[in-house]
Amino acid sequence: MKNSILLFSFLFLASCNHAQNVHQNDKKDTGQSTSSQGVPVNKIIKTDDEWKSQLSEEEYYVLREAGTERAFTGGYWDNKKEGKYVCRACGADLFDSATKFKSGTGWPSFYQPANNECITEHKDGKFEMTRTEVVCSKCDGHLGHLFNDGPAPTGLRYCINSASLKFVE
Ligand code: FE
Repeated sequence: MKNSILLFSFLFLASCNHAQNVHQNDKKDTGQSTSSQGVPVNKIIKTDDEWKSQLSEEEYYVLREAGTERAFTGGYWDNKKEGKYVCRACGADLFDSATKFKSGTGWPSFYQPANNECITEHKDGKFEMTRTEVVCSKCDGHLGHLFNDGPAPTGLRYCINSASLKFVE
């Protein structure tokens, strides 16, 4: 009897794990219905023309075409003012200045997002490297990449394009 309970428990856990994997694969395919933490997000969906009319050429290139601004050229890599950073495209809260740190990379760098829902992670296979791309959960705008060499307390480094952000004092 005990063995069958153990077996049942094992099968149940295995099926949960499988369901989670399937869910993650679904997320990769459809991409965009939940944040990294699986929280549903009310999406802002616009056409390319609508985005083009509200963003500058560089902002469109970075946010909508997953481009990268040249290091040390953006408006915020050296910004030390206190305030918050919102999405340049949709205004969603993304980062707080309290979590910004000097990374030396030439891009604004943060060790954690403003909240658990605002950022969605995607695997990025560009340039034969596997990096984690981070996008705004609300509008799917490209922000930058996530690395594991950040400072305490998270050890994470969100390397973000200034063009994707708007600083609010
Ligand atoms: Fe956004």
